[in-house]
Amino acid sequence: MYEDLKIILWPDPRLRKTSRPVEVFDDSLAALSARMFELMREFKGVGLAAPQVGLNIRLFVANPTGEPGDNRIFVNPHLSDAEGEAEADEGCLSLPGIDATILRSKSITIRAQDVKGQPFELVSDDFPARVWQHEFDHLNGTLLMDRMGPADKIAAKKKLRELEEKFEEALPKKKKS
Ligand code: ZN
Repeated sequence: MYEDLKIILWPDPRLRKTSRPVEVFDDSLAALSARMFELMREFKGVGLAAPQVGLNIRLFVANPTGEPGDNRIFVNPHLSDAEGEAEADEGCLSLPGIDATILRSKSITIRAQDVKGQPFELVSDDFPARVWQHEFDHLNGTLLMDRMGPADKIAAKKKLRELEEKFEEALPKKKKS
């Protein structure tokens, strides 16, 4: 049902939207999550948010270790109890070729529902905390450019322009009049 799903790239406008809550926990949600894990693995990511496959719903998948048993689906997530600060390099599957030093909370609590709608809560003060914050940003249309420092922004400029040109080229051509 979701075989054709692809990772969308900057500047696709769906990456900038605020996503809506998931209300129905059905087989289709499970199928979507399974396909998102496939894409995440294929492109060697540690997380993937629904807007990155063009669906503006509040869901992301993550696996900070790469171990199959550590796959986890976060539906309608909330972040709280942010503590401390930590800087590290981040990339994004929707911004290929760009990486930047991003300041995040060191420790965070995440409350979410699983694919069946069951609530759960996790706490991390390590890499998973960073992944959750990155993916959560996607659900509000926030991207790395919004959080990177001025030097990284300048460094990313050329790559962003290339992505923008590619996006323009792929759009259906308007007839000249
Ligand atoms: Zn991302």
